[in-house]
Amino acid sequence: MNVIIIEDEQDLAELLAFNMEKEGWQTGIELDGKSGLERVTADLPDLVILDLMLPGMGGIEVCRRLRHHEKTSTIPIIVVTAKGDEIDRVVGFEMGADDYLVKPFSIRELLLRIKALFRRTSLPQEKEKILTRGIVTIDPHRHVVMVKGQEITLTSTEFKLLQTLAERPNRIQGREQLLRDVWGYNNNTDSRTIDTHITRLRNKIGEAGDMIKTVRGFGYKMKVE
Ligand code: CA
Repeated sequence: MNVIIIEDEQDLAELLAFNMEKEGWQTGIELDGKSGLERVTADLPDLVILDLMLPGMGGIEVCRRLRHHEKTSTIPIIVVTAKGDEIDRVVGFEMGADDYLVKPFSIRELLLRIKALFRRTSLPQEKEKILTRGIVTIDPHRHVVMVKGQEITLTSTEFKLLQTLAERPNRIQGREQLLRDVWGYNNNTDSRTIDTHITRLRNKIGEAGDMIKTVRGFGYKMKVE
């Protein structure tokens, strides 16, 4: 995942970048609105973190222009600003921001928001690819799963669970990680919920269910020959 941070407080921008890189994301920093707009238009990142009070072109204008252009119109934007009143929040959303955080905010909160945002809006492009794992084909774009050419009806959670396992074939995925990746950060679901969903998923996908292996005391993996 590639994130562009448009923020004129360099210390804050670097702190955000440092923490995002720990998540394994690539980051870029731009310190003013005009450079930010140009960088986003050139790089087409998966996410923009946008400060509103910027030298020169303000964040609201940057946001408006990004939304206005076809190439950048669907890139998720999280606005961060020191101006915490309700009017700014409304303006931020009207301009097309996907989420809004008032400074000072915790890094953890921002990361949680980002992860939640990716679950509910556009996914990174790599996730849009059709995945073929043995006899299973997953089409994230059309939200369709086929086993040996037969379409299988799954709930969105089951779909996400299967997709998540399939994206990292033969890798053990812990229950907590699956909870985070599939259910979202604010879900207090007991990890046994996963076991229930896995059971249902296995039943639904028939003989492909054997590909989903339980790793005792830890989690699951999708075994692909
Ligand atoms: Ca600022």
